[in-house]
Amino acid sequence: MALTGLEIYKLLPKTNCKKCGFPTCLSFAMALAAKKVSLDKCPYISLETKKIIAEASEPPIRTITIDNKYKIGGETVLFRHERSFYNPCLLGVLIKDTFDDKIISINIEKFYKLEFVRIGERYKTELLLLKSEQDNIDRINDILKQIKPDTTLGFICENPDVLEELTKIRRLSLIGIVKDKRNIEKFVLLAKSNNVPLIVGGETLKEIIEIINLIVQQYEYRELIINIPIRSYIQTIEYLTQIRRLAIKKNFRPLGYPTILLIEQKQEEELLAYATAGILKYGSIVVVDRVEPDIHLSLITLRLNIYTDPQKPTTVEPKLYKIGGETTEKSPLLVTTNFSLTYYSVEPEILNSKIPSWLLIVDTDGLSVLTAWAAEKFNAEKIVDSIRKCNIEEKINHRKLIIPGYVAIMSEKLSNLLPGWQIIVGPKEASLIPKFLKSIWDFNN
Ligand code: SF4
Repeated sequence: MALTGLEIYKLLPKTNCKKCGFPTCLSFAMALAAKKVSLDKCPYISLETKKIIAEASEPPIRTITIDNKYKIGGETVLFRHERSFYNPCLLGVLIKDTFDDKIISINIEKFYKLEFVRIGERYKTELLLLKSEQDNIDRINDILKQIKPDTTLGFICENPDVLEELTKIRRLSLIGIVKDKRNIEKFVLLAKSNNVPLIVGGETLKEIIEIINLIVQQYEYRELIINIPIRSYIQTIEYLTQIRRLAIKKNFRPLGYPTILLIEQKQEEELLAYATAGILKYGSIVVVDRVEPDIHLSLITLRLNIYTDPQKPTTVEPKLYKIGGETTEKSPLLVTTNFSLTYYSVEPEILNSKIPSWLLIVDTDGLSVLTAWAAEKFNAEKIVDSIRKCNIEEKINHRKLIIPGYVAIMSEKLSNLLPGWQIIVGPKEASLIPKFLKSIWDFNN
């Protein structure tokens, strides 16, 4: 938990020598607490104090970066409504070397197809986690040949010698699982030398804490991910909740790390129950041993619900879009707001009409039509401004603008601001657009 200005002040030399550029140690401490200045501006802070302040300013749950592209952990609250959740959990598929060869090949192939489009964005299951139970390097090598080089690939086994061999032939994105104190050194050195996060496990939270303390104190390695032991549904939720509570509320550093759940050998309903609990209750990585798209689409959708900040509406880029093929100077021109759901309600209906159309999207900070109108973010002036910015008068030879039915009230002002234009009030519901366009649009006009 971050230190207050006064707490930092107590750790400073208190000589008010001004070398840091501040008139007093207290003002420097206040600036430091507000993250307006860096610690090294004071030349008199001891190494020990530097370490205390640096550690205290870290988030209660460490942020771990996987593959230089996925951030996990770094959360600061128990409940999303308190502020927000920032780093979406990763979803993964588990492949075991004990699976039948054919199953392994099919599952790897299916893994690459776990990509879905939701409201215009692409989402996928990111992680492929390979688990070795046979310690047979040749077999693992055969499996690796089927895995694309740019895959975010984790590898877990209990034998650090196998892991060492593997790191010589393949770049890995995370490794583990350290459960046995006798293997700690080898695992940690491999994680350090390959610069990858290390998964730490144990039968109980007590065992996990002991191993983490050893790794942090003895090897000063902190790129750790906690493997949650899965024995029962209730206990899994209890462990996840206890870890998050202790990290956030008590600033208990040994458990201030992201978590990973490996859900295997479950019936589909049970697997979904565990994975859902993992996503909802603080899992940072949720891995399942199934590759069916319906399972993964459900989990991706749930993740979107939890990690989408409701205070920040999803938006599309405000600009002029061509919908439904090659638009011409005779194509209809419609206008609406840049709220994603609005756009993705209107776009398919224009496609359904089979009339290629121009769709002008006005920047309304992601508000829907009526809300944006009430907030003065979707008004006649903004529409006219967008028409000018997009050079629409050069792209169409008619002067007709179709506005959403809910803002029919704007038509008079628009007519005044756009002399020579005909403002047509469209339907209130997007589903009526095809019928509307077919009934009013005459390409000979
Ligand atoms: S340089 Fe250090 S000791 Fe001097 S005023 Fe700044 S904080 Fe205080």
